Amino acid sequence: GRASPPLAALSQVLRLERSRRTGIVFPLQKLERYLAPGTDTARFRLFQPGLAALQRAEALFRSDRGHPIDYVSSAVRMDHAPPPALPEVCFIGRSNVGKSSLIRALFSLAPEVEVRVSKTPGHTKKMNFFKVGKYFTLVDMPGYGYRAPQDFVEMVEAYLQERRNLKRTFLLVDGVVGLQKMDNIAVEMLEEFGIPYVMVLTKIDRASRGVLLKNVLEIQEFVKENTQGCFPQLFLVSSVEFSGVHLLRSFVAHVTGNLPTVEAS
Ligand code: GDP
Repeated sequence: GRASPPLAALSQVLRLERSRRTGIVFPLQKLERYLAPGTDTARFRLFQPGLAALQRAEALFRSDRGHPIDYVSSAVRMDHAPPPALPEVCFIGRSNVGKSSLIRALFSLAPEVEVRVSKTPGHTKKMNFFKVGKYFTLVDMPGYGYRAPQDFVEMVEAYLQERRNLKRTFLLVDGVVGLQKMDNIAVEMLEEFGIPYVMVLTKIDRASRGVLLKNVLEIQEFVKENTQGCFPQLFLVSSVEFSGVHLLRSFVAHVTGNLPTVEAS
């Protein structure tokens, strides 16, 4: 299997000095000090697990013999989806937003998991289902784009509307370019269906601090003014530096009911 990247495990992050550690575990908080005084940052810390909760979530994402993490199956139609037996989360976003990289980062402590990528143009895009022990399933939805065919749109719509065990949708947005037209279409769809979702800003290592701050504040404002179903706290991630990945694991554990004790901050 693959070797885990350097900061894939919390034990490695805990060895860093404090400021770097905060940047890796709570990237949004790292930005706080650069905001104008008086900026409301309540929404930066709505979900702020302590070390015990972070460790518990990490254990869920670490496979072993008694706790297998596996790719289950792919489906192009809802009647091919596995039975809705466990709480489920799904990841959606534009092609190239960093979705497969992020899912690979989340599963980096289960190196036997193959996160498949089908980028060949003309190849049928599928929903890929992963099972995390007996606790939850994670679905990698096909990336959307301007050339998304109708059957693809229908597949995503059908999934979002019909999947009874879907607990939360993670909408990935490129942290360098911010919200795009296609992202707004996804937001409208989620809002119309009344589906709880959360926005994840990807590739934050590639954005300058200024660009990142601008995108964070803009999207936060957008969420506040235009959405009902979006969790007010944004999640920032870099699959290269591993920032935000530990926090995201905890949030997935939380929304699937596997983190009963998130301490209030
Ligand atoms: P997908 O189409 O959404 O699955 O996107 P990929 O995960 O394949 O990523 C698209 C491109 O962005 C690839 O070249 C990745 O190497 C790059 N990428 C993805 N995540 C990150 C990240 O966190 N940081 C940086 N610097 N590049 C990333």
